[in-house]
Amino acid sequence: MKIVETKAAVRSELAHRRSSRIALVPTMGYLHEGHLSLVDRAREVADHVVVSIFVNPLQFGAGEDLATYPRDPDRDAALARERGVDLVFAPSAEEMYSGESAVRIVPVRMADRLCGAFRPGHFEGVLTVVAKLFNVVQPDVAVFGQKDYQQAVLIRAMVRDLDLPVEIDVARIVREPDGLAMSSRNEYLDAAARRRATRLWQGLRAAADAFRSGERDPARLCGWVEDALGGADIEPQYVELVDPETLEPLELARPGGVLAVAAVVDGTRLIDNIVLE
Ligand code: AMP
Repeated sequence: MKIVETKAAVRSELAHRRSSRIALVPTMGYLHEGHLSLVDRAREVADHVVVSIFVNPLQFGAGEDLATYPRDPDRDAALARERGVDLVFAPSAEEMYSGESAVRIVPVRMADRLCGAFRPGHFEGVLTVVAKLFNVVQPDVAVFGQKDYQQAVLIRAMVRDLDLPVEIDVARIVREPDGLAMSSRNEYLDAAARRRATRLWQGLRAAADAFRSGERDPARLCGWVEDALGGADIEPQYVELVDPETLEPLELARPGGVLAVAAVVDGTRLIDNIVLE
């Protein structure tokens, strides 16, 4: 496995690989089993796997956790190597954004809802960096996690709307044994907050069970999540049942509908979702 820090080095590393299928897994590092499951998926669908590790300043708002975001490049490198990654691209912010930019990718739909309503400009930062990574790596396929559901929908929309020549693969959410969705930000939680954080998944699972038992009222399904959070004194930012493609709120629950939640637990913002079956 090679680790490179410049766009030029990525291009030259991949120059003689263009006849094989290249997969890209974009991450912000501090790798966990969720990220590594995307690597496994990438290895299934491609011959050569590139992981990018970049804490993208453009997608953090003022007052968010850019400065404190957990980082451990050596551990990331060891985990990536163990998992069969071929190339790690770990650029600096200066390498990614040289000089003042004049152009960004601005989503015109779906980005002001759910997480976007609480993180203005976030998805503009995400789409801009992902488009840049696509242009640097030029992968055949890129793998993202369902954990960031809205992100995956917007990236698919960007690829479609801008005719980007890359397939998008979305992999299921990897959870801790108690159900908490794995996230680099779980690192911030102390033991008490970590226990309370399991309420997000407990609520989603209770709602999914209620759906399976015939409940079709979105407000009642969301109520299961709100009650689970309320029981641990957690105020959600949002709990919504949305259409999987448009992210518009559903008037009637149906299979494929996505129940999504965001909440701040002891200062740490957590998100999770479940697709109704
Ligand atoms: P991040 O490093 O948090 O930006 O995440 C990088 C990629 O890993 C994104 O596509 C995420 O959706 C995905 N990801 C993060 N956590 C998980 C998880 N628990 N299960 C599956 N994918 C995940």
